[in-house]
Amino acid sequence: MEYALWLDFGLFLVTSALFVYVFMSSTITRLHKVYLTFHACLLLWPLSQFAVETTDDPFYQSFYLKIGFAGISVVGVAWTIFAIFLSGSSYVLNRRSMTALAIPTIAVVILILLNPSGLFMKPVGTDYAEREYGPIFWIMVAIQFIYVVLSSALFMRTSRHSAAPRHRRQVQMAVTGMVILAVFALGDTFVNVVIDKQLPTISGLTSFGIMFSVIYFVIAIRRYGVFDVVRIAQVNVVDSMSTGVAVLDEHDVVLETNRVFRRLFDIRTGDRLRIETLLEPLDVEGGVDSFLQAYRGNPPRPAQIEVTFKDNDTFRHVIIHGEPIEAHGVLIGRVLTFQDVSELRSLVESSYRQNEALQQRNRELVEMQAELYAMNQQLERMAITDSLTGCYNRRYLMQQLEHEIMTNIRYNIPFAIFLFDIDLFKSINDIHGHLIGDEVIKHTADTVRRCLRRTDIVARYGGEEFTVYLPHTNRTQALMLAERVRQAVSSSEISTGASGRTVQVTISMGVLAVEESNPDRIDDPKEYLRELFSRVDAALYRAKNGGRNRIVAAD
Ligand code: GH3
Ligand code: MG
Ligand code: MG
Repeated sequence: MEYALWLDFGLFLVTSALFVYVFMSSTITRLHKVYLTFHACLLLWPLSQFAVETTDDPFYQSFYLKIGFAGISVVGVAWTIFAIFLSGSSYVLNRRSMTALAIPTIAVVILILLNPSGLFMKPVGTDYAEREYGPIFWIMVAIQFIYVVLSSALFMRTSRHSAAPRHRRQVQMAVTGMVILAVFALGDTFVNVVIDKQLPTISGLTSFGIMFSVIYFVIAIRRYGVFDVVRIAQVNVVDSMSTGVAVLDEHDVVLETNRVFRRLFDIRTGDRLRIETLLEPLDVEGGVDSFLQAYRGNPPRPAQIEVTFKDNDTFRHVIIHGEPIEAHGVLIGRVLTFQDVSELRSLVESSYRQNEALQQRNRELVEMQAELYAMNQQLERMAITDSLTGCYNRRYLMQQLEHEIMTNIRYNIPFAIFLFDIDLFKSINDIHGHLIGDEVIKHTADTVRRCLRRTDIVARYGGEEFTVYLPHTNRTQALMLAERVRQAVSSSEISTGASGRTVQVTISMGVLAVEESNPDRIDDPKEYLRELFSRVDAALYRAKNGGRNRIVAAD
């Protein structure tokens, strides 16, 4: 079997050369590494077949054979991982899933290497040139078969779901390559193991299978760019984006989605995504019609809309943006992006709520300020007026007079002061009671006020005594006004409320008119005021003594 030795060795050389070629001519990505591991495992087979032929020592023969079979055993799992990568689901591969996937392989490799009690293989005769395979061999075949079925299923699914023709071609190529290898390996097993007795041994079947499939791969890799770095990078970039992306063709069929999109919607590659159907159940903020007009328009325009939907008890706000893709003015598809703006929205909403609360607080403060102002005004009024009559009180009048009188004197402006008291008021109280007494005081004050000018100040001096300050008033005018007041009071009838009976009162009045005086003589305005009042009080006293209901001018 000399030719078989060189055949296997030659195949080993060809396969190794291809390995080096792929390694050198491609940029290394994760997908490459997986492929190269797979390729390296394949290399072990022809090498071991060659090595077995170089020796008659059963120990070395067994060693080389075990290495070759171990290499072939790893092909299945390496292939499955390769399939997972090609189907674009590499994100499912983490340490745990890889381990789970590799456990059967590892177990079988260990069993092959240990070959316990010749359960994997036994020599027929003195060495391993002729050998018999045990149950471990068949377990290995079965496991490989399962891996092939698993990865084929994966490829079929990818091929069915992938609408991109290039991707489909890549997957088909991978399936073909694997089928070539599987057919040769199974053929080898069948011819040289199962029906070994009936036929002469046909060498190198599996090695040929390996070579054909590897050659096929290398051609396909060059032709279809399986290791297209740009494509892999694009998928990675789009997958790692925080915005959901879906690419549709002109018939709304989904060609491509990224991870965020798949998390948001249960729509997969190959499904139809009609934006109208998508929007229908969602809470849309304004302008669906204008959005659809732009989206479906002729020519279509970029369109944007914000939607709200419930996702596990929380409301998500998503901005959907549709961008037409055109080639030579013809619509060939669309890119839809879904940007989750919930956080931004909740920030805006909470600041809006805070703003509302602040404005409300502001309004309350303004109201409170207005109330305070009104209360202050009222307090101020209360501080200077008499509650019964509504006239100014004595304190206010005195304060005003201190300023007024000094100004009058400085500029020689005449003024007058009245001091009047209701006559025999005690008897009113005694006869009609205090309430009527109060009413009489009030009524009298109103009557007096009606007779006077707006600029004159009427103040309650105490009890039923009042004083009036009359600016710009000379003696004659003062006496005339005083007389008018006296008459008005005496002619006024006050209802007592009891069966239409009325009361009439009179007043006695002292009148003081200051027409000219020397400002130099006045040092202390308070003292001067006191002097004026004692003079007018004396006049009032004289009016009382003179028989009441009369006016007396002060000296
Ligand atoms: P005349 O002044 O003419 O000499 O006699 P009169 O009776 O009016 O005497 P006087 O002025 O001394 O009496 C004032 C009375 O007025 C004493 C007090 O009981 C009463 N009086 C004072 N203030 C009020 C008040 O606010 N309401 C009522 N109902 N009575 C008052
Ligand atoms: Mg009196
Ligand atoms: Mg009195």
